[in-house]
Amino acid sequence: MRILVINAGSSSLKYQLFDMTNESVLASGRVERIGMDSSIVTHEPTDKPEVKDVSEILDHVTAVKRVIDLLVHPEHGVIRSMDEIDAVGHRVVHGGETFKESVLVDQDVKLEIRNLFDLAPLHNPAHMMGINAVDTNLPEVPQAVVFDTAFHQSMPPVAYLYPIPMVLYRRHKIRRYGFHGTSHNYVSQQAAELLGKPLEELKMVTCHIGNGASCTAIMGGKSVDTSMGLTPLEGLMMGTRSGDLDPAIVPFTMNKEDLTLSEVNSMLNKHSGLMAISGISSDMREIVDSMEEGDRNAKLAFDMYTYRVRKYIGSYVAAMDGLDVLVFTAGVGENSVQLRDAVCSGLSYFGVKLDPELNKQRSKQARIISAPDSRTKVMVVPTNEELIIARDTYRLVLEQEKQENYEI
Ligand code: ADP
Repeated sequence: MRILVINAGSSSLKYQLFDMTNESVLASGRVERIGMDSSIVTHEPTDKPEVKDVSEILDHVTAVKRVIDLLVHPEHGVIRSMDEIDAVGHRVVHGGETFKESVLVDQDVKLEIRNLFDLAPLHNPAHMMGINAVDTNLPEVPQAVVFDTAFHQSMPPVAYLYPIPMVLYRRHKIRRYGFHGTSHNYVSQQAAELLGKPLEELKMVTCHIGNGASCTAIMGGKSVDTSMGLTPLEGLMMGTRSGDLDPAIVPFTMNKEDLTLSEVNSMLNKHSGLMAISGISSDMREIVDSMEEGDRNAKLAFDMYTYRVRKYIGSYVAAMDGLDVLVFTAGVGENSVQLRDAVCSGLSYFGVKLDPELNKQRSKQARIISAPDSRTKVMVVPTNEELIIARDTYRLVLEQEKQENYEI
């Protein structure tokens, strides 16, 4: 079975085509600047050279058509016809309280995703455009949706409720949802496998640290708390997002700086975090380079960033009353030796002891980087959200086929 995984944004669409017989990636790519006059398409077939072109792609329907054309192209393609695409899996950021797991798309599911537009105004409408674009181009092909929030639906009320009037939860569903769930779920499974212990017996903290960043406390394979909240703004300091702050800063700043709500929103989401403190970049590589060249603002940004990761880990050890495994993943977590070192150096009380040599080794494989006598195992586990989406889609389509067989 071949599964096309799509991550549709408002002006971009990323894709990967999987062959589920061996979970290999046949091709991947992205369409950028959708809706603008010079859209860029990058197509990377696994065994052929990359293709890049610039053309006018005004909407998602055209973007999906372009992707299919490339996948079946006689020279750059990897399949002979679009009939070879058996199913499509979409990443959807917000599943609210409705979606506790991945589902196949039908009219009800579409309606529910639409009802959640308010909770993820930047993401869910774009995902919906992706789903509709596939409907138009591949009307017979089943589609599944995999939610960033679903894994965190196991959190107990003490973790997901905010101490504000309950009416706000009842009326508007204001609560912690958490994000990056597909990634936290995947790396926790990989970590248990690497350790050779059942997930059910382990207490873990998984740190997904990329442009966006979140920590999750996982007990027995279930998310029990996570740092992102109603939106992906809460929690850790990020590339351009502030993470946690005193909510009173919002009205105070609006008043003092004569800012509108949307200006404050933009400040906290796009002009804060590493970028704001360093004044240099939101990219951890540039922060570390500048810090090593002696830039003091870069050092302050790095220290604030790692300090906050460490504080979250500490609070989750308290939430779970223990810690067996600490996992680092995503762009920064997988690659930054300095970040892992800085975070772990303050966690000796919790039995964390890094092996400096193992921490320095570069590899694309999941690996243990703690010393043999470290009570808590520390790991680097590369994330693969697309693979989880492909697996869930595959499972749902097979289950549906089985059910249809029974009905016959
Ligand atoms: P996203 O959250 O957009 O999915 P990623 O998980 O791909 O992001 O992470 C992207 C970030 O990873 C970049 O902004 C960069 O800061 C960081 N990164 C990538 N490589 C390295 C590296 N070698 N050292 C430090 N940071 C890195």
